[in-house]
Amino acid sequence: MPRLADALAAPLIFEQGQAGRANRYFPRHAESADAYLPAEAIRPELPLPDNSELDVVRHFTRLSQRTFGIDTAFYPLGSCTMKYNPRINDAMANLPGLRDLHPFAPDELAQGALAIMWELERALSSLFGMAEFSLNPAAGAHAEFAALLIAKAYFRTRGETRRTTVIVPDTAHGTNPASAAMVGYKVVSLPSDKRGRVDPDELKKVLGSDTAVCMMTNPNTLGLFEDRIKEIADAVHDAGGLMYYDGANANALMGNSRPGDMGFDLMHLNLHKTFSIPHGGGGAGAGPVGVAAHLVPFLPSPRVERNGEEFSLQFELPESIGPMRSFWSNFAHVVRALAYICANGEEGLTKVSQLAVLNANYIRASIRDVLETPYDEPCRHEFVATAQPLKRETGVRALDIAKALLDRGYHAPTIYFPLLVPECLMIEPTETESKETLDGFIAALREIVQQAHDDPVAVQCAPIETVVGRVDETKAAREPDLRWRP
Ligand SMILES: *Cc1c(COP(=O)(O)O)cnc(C)c1O
Repeated sequence: MPRLADALAAPLIFEQGQAGRANRYFPRHAESADAYLPAEAIRPELPLPDNSELDVVRHFTRLSQRTFGIDTAFYPLGSCTMKYNPRINDAMANLPGLRDLHPFAPDELAQGALAIMWELERALSSLFGMAEFSLNPAAGAHAEFAALLIAKAYFRTRGETRRTTVIVPDTAHGTNPASAAMVGYKVVSLPSDKRGRVDPDELKKVLGSDTAVCMMTNPNTLGLFEDRIKEIADAVHDAGGLMYYDGANANALMGNSRPGDMGFDLMHLNLHKTFSIPHGGGGAGAGPVGVAAHLVPFLPSPRVERNGEEFSLQFELPESIGPMRSFWSNFAHVVRALAYICANGEEGLTKVSQLAVLNANYIRASIRDVLETPYDEPCRHEFVATAQPLKRETGVRALDIAKALLDRGYHAPTIYFPLLVPECLMIEPTETESKETLDGFIAALREIVQQAHDDPVAVQCAPIETVVGRVDETKAAREPDLRWRP
């Protein structure tokens, strides 16, 4: 891993090079720009760095080596499902017939692409027990937004416009209340019980004729299965509301149980989590939204339809909430997800879930004597630990542990989420990691806790091996200064 000193010594691309050094394979035609562009659109000068090709290649290769990704090392970021992305997915998405297809190609020239969309919709519907899916939304939060628009349209059609509240448990992902607020719903937060779950009796106290939707994650973000889900769904339905399932992290569920069978009316998936697909840094995602039969007419448009052996895009959908984005979906991700499903098969996907759960429990059981696990029972695909007792004894916090892991070559887990667990570490290993990798991570965590007792200041000073040390996180978030000025 590069040292801080090396990083500081490495100049920016703008600070490198010399005039006239750039490789020029083709003659310049600077004057020809005038022929195509209006004068006011042409910059009087463009101070681009003048570097040789080799220097440019070295510069960007060096930068690429400084990033941390799933291809570099273990990335146990809870609620994010950072799993290996099988290269076959990319090979399929890169097939010229798919990659080069224009989104406005007429249906008869896009039969293969439409068949892929249709097949993925069918596969997801059967895996999760929904009547139909739309692949239209561009990410998880976008799909939550779509689902709540669907709920709103449904209640409007039924004349139930006084349903204005959305119930969100305190374990929910932050996007849930945000999406509800964006659709104009009032958010009612529901505290979880001592077992880290929704208590149906507490839920009943906030249910009423104003309830529109109850948004749940199951297993929830504590990694616990909501074992009273049937009672919860019945209570919400009795009150006339809809059940929404946040399936962003379906890695414990896939092939084992289905939200449709639990009583959910609406759901979303993150293809860029459960179905591999690289993500992070704001990159492209894909968030299919699924619905039970009574909500199908409201799905986003267009819809892929199958008529015998022929596929077509349907735009004439009078009750649809309309398109959520330009074009039909993040199509390359649709191809990747279907490739992943086909490569694994139904049995393989079930195994994926089982191994994800096994790996999470293996880490949990191997560290619980040094880091408290507040919900001490078998978890699903992830679990939370707390550094609260350690902080009391040594002053070392969850943040310090996260930073110390970076020095040992591991990405930090999610920290300080969910909010109800103080000094929280949320660890999700996924199924793709070997026992050796998990053992290395466990050893690193145990070593850090030991160091916290022996030399707490050393842990509080971490990281020292990374390109950038500790940043002022408030300043970085509030006053980001990302611009280079000469
Ligand atoms: C990641 C995640 C989301 C949001 O998904 P994006 O694609 O980042 O918008 C929503 N809910 C849960 C539980 C998540 O883990």
